[in-house]
Amino acid sequence: MNTQKGQILREKATILKMIQLYCEAHHSGIHGKLCSDCEQLYFYANARINNCIYGEEKPTCQNCIIHCYSANNREKIKIVMRYSGPRMIYKFPILAINHIINKAADKKKIPKIEAARIKKMKK
Ligand SMILES: [Zn+2]
Repeated sequence: MNTQKGQILREKATILKMIQLYCEAHHSGIHGKLCSDCEQLYFYANARINNCIYGEEKPTCQNCIIHCYSANNREKIKIVMRYSGPRMIYKFPILAINHIINKAADKKKIPKIEAARIKKMKK
């Protein structure tokens, strides 16, 4: 079963690129190759996206109110994003622009999905 559409696939691609940029500069030194630590972080991030209760409607992770990452992995991904975030625009402009557009859309999205979630819980 594959119900994942563009949005989630793009989010996964973005996370992979960000971890690759970080790992290349700090650990493996090999283009496109992740060290085992970063590979684990990527698998973890991937699994979080797969389990996201919002599915296709999901906001970008930074703006999400749920914060499903464990404290440890959250720290790691924050460090990766701090390094790779500003570099994404040069290296992968399409993914980066898409991410910026999504983040801007979160402002409208979050109250809507929250309202829907609360409604569901009450049923
Ligand atoms: Zn690494």
